[in-house]
Amino acid sequence: MDTDAFKVKAGTSVDLGKIDPRSTPGWAGNKEEAANHLSEQIAKIVALQEVLYAQGTRRVLIVLQAMDGGGKDGTIRTVFDGINPQGVRVASFKGPTDAELAHDYLWRVHPHVPGSGEIVLFNRSHYEDVLVVAVHELVAEAHWRRRYRHIRDFEQLLTDEGTTVIKFFLHISKEEQRLRLQERLDDPRKRWKFAKADLAERERWSDYQHAYERAISETSTDDSPWYIVPADRNWFRNLVVAEIVSSTLEGLDLRYPPAESGLEGLKVT
Ligand code: AMP
Ligand code: MG
Repeated sequence: MDTDAFKVKAGTSVDLGKIDPRSTPGWAGNKEEAANHLSEQIAKIVALQEVLYAQGTRRVLIVLQAMDGGGKDGTIRTVFDGINPQGVRVASFKGPTDAELAHDYLWRVHPHVPGSGEIVLFNRSHYEDVLVVAVHELVAEAHWRRRYRHIRDFEQLLTDEGTTVIKFFLHISKEEQRLRLQERLDDPRKRWKFAKADLAERERWSDYQHAYERAISETSTDDSPWYIVPADRNWFRNLVVAEIVSSTLEGLDLRYPPAESGLEGLKVT
């Protein structure tokens, strides 16, 4: 699979209307073949993460953004299934607390970035501060527009200092969101995920799509790229994210650290 097809090249202007959320570009196989392929990719991620952790020098930040029901939780559950919990963390960003609001918007984010040997998944992120904040005008437009620059600079700081950053937008259709929100309402085991406020956000669907288009166009860089993943079909979404994560890890040229000298032939008595 050519994962570059999903990458937003720096300086390009994104039109989400041109990307079909149900499409499965680059995948000719059936669903069963996709499942096999996904298992292989996950096994690769699991093996590479072991080395990343053992080596203890590289850091990986994976940002997940999507509309409600876009599949962030499902992606985390599926693609990172079986990974050694040592060395992997999820940081979820909800509406800010009073203490967080009393600081700049990156204040709550920076402490969660990965340390050496770690992979961190951001379930929502600092991008909310140019998405929900822009859609609801929680700060003035001139104010949130400056944040694209802050965010580019912040992520450049991270990459300059040795962190690999990849960002995913899980792209679902409005109809698929309707089905998923309805399912949350209808299934008592999923109802906890539903908030009445989700319906008000859904009303602003096109505002959000535009906010995503702007944010992605403004902040996809060579060092910190966005990938737009067609996400109406979970199996395809998982496959694409797994492929991109595993090929990113492969590109890090990970190695086990050298053993202490003099271990050859040593017997434990
Ligand atoms: P969920 O991911 O379903 O648990 O919802 C978290 C909610 O927190 C979403 O509605 C987000 O838009 C909201 N949220 C996250 N970060 C921010 C932020 N910086 N400002 C305002 N709302 C936010
Ligand atoms: Mg929610």
